[in-house]
Amino acid sequence: MISNKMKSFVQTSSVIRAMFEEGKKMAKLYGEENVYDFSLGNPSVEPPKAVKATIERILYKESPNLVHGYMNNSGYEDVREKIALSLNERFSTEFSYKNIIMTVGAAGGLNVVFKTLLNPKDEVVVFAPFFGEYKNYVENFDGILKVVPPNFPSFQPNFLEFEKQLNEKTKAVIINTPNNPTGVVYSKETLLKLAEVLEKKQKEFGTSIYLISDEPYRELVYDDIEVPYVTKYYRNTIIGYSFSKSLSLPGERIGYLVLPDELDDAEEILSAVNVATRILGFVNAPSLMQRVVAECLNEKVPIEGYDKNRQMLYGALSSYGYECIKPQGAFYLFIKTFEPDDLAFVEHAKKHHLLLVPGSSFHCSGYVRTAYCVDPKMIKRSLPAFLKLAKEYGIY
Ligand code: PLP
Repeated sequence: MISNKMKSFVQTSSVIRAMFEEGKKMAKLYGEENVYDFSLGNPSVEPPKAVKATIERILYKESPNLVHGYMNNSGYEDVREKIALSLNERFSTEFSYKNIIMTVGAAGGLNVVFKTLLNPKDEVVVFAPFFGEYKNYVENFDGILKVVPPNFPSFQPNFLEFEKQLNEKTKAVIINTPNNPTGVVYSKETLLKLAEVLEKKQKEFGTSIYLISDEPYRELVYDDIEVPYVTKYYRNTIIGYSFSKSLSLPGERIGYLVLPDELDDAEEILSAVNVATRILGFVNAPSLMQRVVAECLNEKVPIEGYDKNRQMLYGALSSYGYECIKPQGAFYLFIKTFEPDDLAFVEHAKKHHLLLVPGSSFHCSGYVRTAYCVDPKMIKRSLPAFLKLAKEYGIY
């Protein structure tokens, strides 16, 4: 018999994954060409050539002990040093290898942070809509996720509502910019305001509130928009970074945490994350991938393909009467549904072979998410289906 806690995780297990499986079934039934699967954020762009060449070079030319051995749980020191120097160059920060912990993707990093910080019933605040797995990650360590309701239609933080969620039990706040599922990016002004609220509340409660910035989409931004580096605005910031999207390596499970010296209890936290990494079962981040990303810190997947998809989907859907916010980053378009029940809308869309993810999976009903990290030909083929759907609701 499985544990009661696991039972509840299984019950609420990811709608996105279920949708992906459904897509495969529908493709068998109707033919792949006739199913428009926008469900999963799996990068459609190949990793940069330099990444593949580096994998080969390291695998075949370097001494096995430098690539395949055990290491410090936090990762190879020379790899962490290279990452620190690269961040310092890009963002004028002052990190050393000690501030960088290699992780098993963003998901691994977030779990390490929550394992390190949370006591049972500690609260973690998040802005809706958000990546649904956060709830599981927090509950893994018996924390409680508190949700700031969505701020329509901009999806920027509503600071009044935010303040209402903060109290003596608040241990952390998660932000994710560029955002999954909206594509929204927080400006410097927004981060300054966020920092002001957090500083005020820390003083009021006499506690430390850590701001966790989950950044798997940092490099995927359009129109040269700036994504400010959050540690510069708030002292108690922890960054979770991932190469899953920036280098199209989601299956390889590689990322890192940045834990600045300025954090309250920094030393204690740094030694605890090292232990958390080991006892969560990863032991360390994949060694080959650590070596590879250290050589590819200036590489990123070309953004042009995603941008073309963004323009095509946003342009067409807006012209058919869909309401959506133009994404500034990531590869998702968040669309208002033509009826309040997003689950019913998703079912309706399925009749046109459109696979969309309900907004309620991101704690934001009345919306659906499309992932446009797909073949542009599929987007083109899907447009008549989107148009028919709009017509059925009497919108177009
Ligand atoms: N955070 C967000 C907002 C995501 O969208 C994802 C994956 O899609 C993750 C974390 C997990 O990323 P990773 O594959 O690096 O663990």
